[in-house]
Amino acid sequence: MEKGYSMKKKIFIGSGIALLVVLVVAVVIFYPAIRFMTQREVIQIDPSLTLMLGGGGNSGVIIGDSAVVVIDTKMMGNGEDLYKFAKEKAGQKPIIVINTHYHPDHVQGNKYFKGSKIYIGNYEKEFLQKNIDAEDQPTDVIKDSLLIDLGNEKVHLYDLGRGHTSNDVVVYLTNHKVLFTGDLVFNQINPVLKDESGAKVSQWICVLDTILSRWGDSKVVPGHGSVGHREIVESMRQYFLDMTTAARDPDKENMMKAVYKDWMKLPNMSSPGKTIEYIKMHEINK
Ligand SMILES: [Zn+2]
Repeated sequence: MEKGYSMKKKIFIGSGIALLVVLVVAVVIFYPAIRFMTQREVIQIDPSLTLMLGGGGNSGVIIGDSAVVVIDTKMMGNGEDLYKFAKEKAGQKPIIVINTHYHPDHVQGNKYFKGSKIYIGNYEKEFLQKNIDAEDQPTDVIKDSLLIDLGNEKVHLYDLGRGHTSNDVVVYLTNHKVLFTGDLVFNQINPVLKDESGAKVSQWICVLDTILSRWGDSKVVPGHGSVGHREIVESMRQYFLDMTTAARDPDKENMMKAVYKDWMKLPNMSSPGKTIEYIKMHEINK
């Protein structure tokens, strides 16, 4: 009887330890992704421009003379705080929303901006209906480009076509010389590549070339990660060139992976290995 009891106790303690180990391992593995999606930082550039980083994609709020513009609306509860901030600044002025692309971490806060114009790139209507929740649907698509003149700032929107998705939009603030790239640029983070999004690495590199030649002297707000200048666009471009080299030449794979060992990986979503596989599958062995 006593022996059985002590055995049960051992099993109980043993399974408790096993559960703890599983939990610790899970936290260690998923911590970068959890931090990536939840950590937030507010950068007040000047009274008319605030950057709100993290909590989904990076966002910007521009206080114009005639309206307030919000770039990307984050995910989960983070969009609500963004809305409250923009609404307080806007008062009676309208709020205009821009989505750099359709992924949930950039559009899931659209629901808080009811009644606002919400712009997105020139995706097919059916594609948007299929991939964005009904309550987060944009109201207008941008054909090539659009200028929103706020008086004190000119906000230029450009649909640069295929890269991270089939219709990525960048937003340029003329007076501030600030470019929002959406997920065309991840800063020191392995980018997420999905066939159903329309991601194509060779075209993504061309789009990065366009960004460098047209807005190479701007401050750059990436879709994820810290703010920088042209060097973060150049790093993203070099990453894709190096991963393409590795995809073509298996002897160079380990060397290229080592170069990017400090770039954040998103569990099950992104890593140098996943990027190399993606290029092999969708561009080399097609
Ligand atoms: Zn994305």
